[in-house]
Amino acid sequence: MIAFGPVTSRRLGLSLGINNIVSRKVCSYSCIYCQIGETQHMSTDQETFYDPENLTKNVEEHLKMLDELHRPDYLTFVSNGEPTLDKNLGEEIRMLKKFEIPIAVITNASLLHHEKVREKLMEADWVSVKVDTIDELTWRKINRPYSNIKLDKILEGITRFASVYKGKLHTETMLINNHNDSSEQVKQTASFISEINPDTAYLSIPTRPPAMNDAKSATEKTITMAWQIFCNAGITTELLTGFEGTDTGITGNAFEDILNITAVHPLREDTMKELLKKENTDMAVVESLEFLKLIKKTKYKGMNYYVRSYHF
Ligand code: SF4
Repeated sequence: MIAFGPVTSRRLGLSLGINNIVSRKVCSYSCIYCQIGETQHMSTDQETFYDPENLTKNVEEHLKMLDELHRPDYLTFVSNGEPTLDKNLGEEIRMLKKFEIPIAVITNASLLHHEKVREKLMEADWVSVKVDTIDELTWRKINRPYSNIKLDKILEGITRFASVYKGKLHTETMLINNHNDSSEQVKQTASFISEINPDTAYLSIPTRPPAMNDAKSATEKTITMAWQIFCNAGITTELLTGFEGTDTGITGNAFEDILNITAVHPLREDTMKELLKKENTDMAVVESLEFLKLIKKTKYKGMNYYVRSYHF
């Protein structure tokens, strides 16, 4: 249940996901737009989720099951929650380097004020940090942080990390209608991001079912305005507003593949059908997972998605 995919990523090409958090979602945020639902367990405490050797072995076995066409461009820590809550992240990254595939971490940056967390992330080749806003009230409304986190500390942590990190640094700003998308807000966010000078700043919108129904995507006009503000601030900016495509890697075990992918990444119906075709199976697998209440179907922007469902 650790490695999954690879799935097509808008930023990373073919990305083999590594979910280093146990099945229950653990995060320091409960973002209104989160595609894996509301946070069941909010925490800022670093824990051990897996033995690093077991995690590396699981990735190795998964890599062996993939054909040449699906050799990933990146091994990506993208978790059922926040990957830096994993105490062993640094060691895991070091151990995974033996596969000679670049390693990426997608983090909400909420623990970057801890020197030890920054040190662990220094080991990765590619890091994306979340910067949805630098306005305290908006941050509380969108990211709904755990009570003991302070925004100024996070921004300070990001700045410190950016000043020493030698890999490729990226930021991601999710634009939510009537939350963080006014020109004033976007200018403030752009001003902070230009200071840390990332390789690329990504502006994104929810493309899968969000945790809260009121997390609506910014309008096309607003997205264009935000892109212009970012570019005017001298930031290399890309929009992440399209669909990634339907290609996924498979292991031959459709049941497991679907559970592993949907734990961090809702599957659109067309992607699901393509995955089943490659696994030489059919919708009966999906129906039995639905019957067991392990996944559920939901509609978003006129499309059907399958999301992971938990009962504890
Ligand atoms: S979007 Fe990321 S940071 Fe926000 S709640 Fe979901 S997993 Fe946590």
